[in-house]
Amino acid sequence: MKITEIRDIVVPIKSEISNAFISFSEMTISAVAVHTDVAREGKPVVGFGFHSNGRYAQQGILRERIIPRLIKAGPSALLSESGENIDPEKAWTVMMTNEKPGGHGDRSVAVGTIDMALWDAAAKIEGKPLFQLLSDCYRDGTADRTVSVYAAGGYYYPGKDVSALTDEMRSYLAAGYTTVKMKIGGAPLAHDLERIEAVLKLLPAGENLCVDANGRFDLPTALEYAKALAPYKLRWYEEPGDPLDFKLLAEVAAGSETPIATGENLFSTVDSRNLVRYGGLDPETDFLQMDPALSYGIVEYQRTLTMLKDEGWSSRRCIPHGGHQMALHVAAGLDLGGNESYPGVFLPFGGFADDLPVGDGKIKLSDAPGIGIETNSDLYAVFQTML
Ligand code: MG
Repeated sequence: MKITEIRDIVVPIKSEISNAFISFSEMTISAVAVHTDVAREGKPVVGFGFHSNGRYAQQGILRERIIPRLIKAGPSALLSESGENIDPEKAWTVMMTNEKPGGHGDRSVAVGTIDMALWDAAAKIEGKPLFQLLSDCYRDGTADRTVSVYAAGGYYYPGKDVSALTDEMRSYLAAGYTTVKMKIGGAPLAHDLERIEAVLKLLPAGENLCVDANGRFDLPTALEYAKALAPYKLRWYEEPGDPLDFKLLAEVAAGSETPIATGENLFSTVDSRNLVRYGGLDPETDFLQMDPALSYGIVEYQRTLTMLKDEGWSSRRCIPHGGHQMALHVAAGLDLGGNESYPGVFLPFGGFADDLPVGDGKIKLSDAPGIGIETNSDLYAVFQTML
């Protein structure tokens, strides 16, 4: 087999929402299609990939470095031993040729986007859903057929008052979610507490609500919020300070009765290792949110899971950021603790299969080969432009 062409497009997902740190008014996403000469059901297999919201499209890095390296590589550099399928680990090494270590960021997003498409193609060639291929490659072949998902929303929006926030949260509960997340840190503490208390009135317990500061706070503010949040007994307090300030995080973790969740802005195994070594987190109670689509893809994510095991962390503490179908498959196939979901936000990239609704806070996985982008009609429409 061989890769015959790799196409990419930039898709705007702009909206007026904001978190405590950024507005999404100019947000874009890269989507890619990896064409192969392998035929299944009379058509060439094409792998699809995209990355998560929050980082911009990576067309320059894709077109100047990552795609040309794959197209130039000989088959032996990219294929499994049988020569009949892509080996995503070998392809990863090709994509990272002549890239210095460190400095992860936009490059990790570009590689993660292609990695998603390569895994999608590899699973389609095998005729398996991605979660099954992942478990066959890295586990014992068993996988979770349902995954816990929580609804992430509660963004700040011009003119959005507390009743609009509670209406939004009610809609998530009506859609089958049992745990919801809302932004904090974009308003003064007193107003954020008013927002939190209004949402808590809709929920059975504090553990059904997560709050996310998106890295906004300095140490005194983060500690002030930690103290104010404690009585609510929330599920987690997410990204209190700068994602790379592990000393700050360790001090906040020590001062917070609410479990900490973080990791969505760490893009490599090495950064994640620094987090668990120096961030003061508790492997029994805290949560890790590294997003495979933003951080060099599944090949690097599996390295991160191996590292976490060595550092005493269960993969069940990992609940990836991103709300996309690839992370859902990773959660099911690699024994994670759940997955994020963005109902109605970042469309069409935030969402799962059209015919598999959320129920009781969980979602079933489709048996469609690959990631199943074809099972989400709005999302598939984006990729059909690259066929
Ligand atoms: Mg977050």
